Amino acid sequence: MVKKSKISTRTKLHGDVLEWQWKSNHWAATIPKWSSSYLLDGLLIDTGAPAGSEQIYQWASNLPENDRISQVYLTHFHEDHAGGALILQKRMNLPILCSPSTQKQFESIKSYRWYRQVYWGKKLSPPHQPQPISDKISSKSGKFNFILISCPGHAPDLTVLLDREHQLLFVGDAIMKRYEMIFGGGCQDIQENIEEIYLSQKHLYDLTEGLDDLQIFVAHAKVYPRSFLKEKMDEIEKLHLDAHRFKDQLKGQGVIKTEDIVKKIVNLLWKKGENRFAKFISRGELSHANLVKSLLEWDLE
Ligand SMILES: [Zn+2]
Repeated sequence: MVKKSKISTRTKLHGDVLEWQWKSNHWAATIPKWSSSYLLDGLLIDTGAPAGSEQIYQWASNLPENDRISQVYLTHFHEDHAGGALILQKRMNLPILCSPSTQKQFESIKSYRWYRQVYWGKKLSPPHQPQPISDKISSKSGKFNFILISCPGHAPDLTVLLDREHQLLFVGDAIMKRYEMIFGGGCQDIQENIEEIYLSQKHLYDLTEGLDDLQIFVAHAKVYPRSFLKEKMDEIEKLHLDAHRFKDQLKGQGVIKTEDIVKKIVNLLWKKGENRFAKFISRGELSHANLVKSLLEWDLE
């Protein structure tokens, strides 16, 4: 008997920002997965997953007059961020905006593997002719003014929104809660690059200097202070140094084959070794090994 997937949604208020979370507790998923969309002064940032598109429409169409959405901005083309855009465009006639690079990604959208369909829904149908914008976006009343910052690494088109006056930063997937696994291997549409991820974070850290009350909205985690960016950069720097140090030690011990070196570094960096379930279910698209390979491809200064 196939158990039905359990879907839940909830909203959270962070000052002026209303967060809408969509969570799928599918029977085949070991950890609950959720994605967040954020609404402030008529501007909706990201739209959740395809499997949650009916729910986001229900939520959006029942918002009180003052909170009504006037435009949607997508941080990147991945299905767990762009999944509800088409339904909001079709049924509510909402303008969908994104970077020119995201628009390009939508034109060549591919299908994705079973495990992502389980988490997010069968297929992403992108919005029709989203409007490309590249430098800034303002909210309905003009209260919030964001600059758009290109932050490649997780996705080539990933764009982050920064309002300096109100110290708000919406990063999509430019920051993850922890760096243990990344996408790679045979996954054509998500080829994560840890060096680019790090450089994008450094760029954001430099850009936000002096913004001591900065609130960072991280899509699959929560709201963090600016120090979180530094923590993530330190975490990646340490992984980078350790991976190269272990590689040199292993080579000194006569381990030659890259595949063996990567496997051994995975075991040295993480007590439990490879996350076999993630690697198996994604058929190698998501693994510790992908992160180690990306760390080793990034030369030490
Ligand atoms: Zn993503």
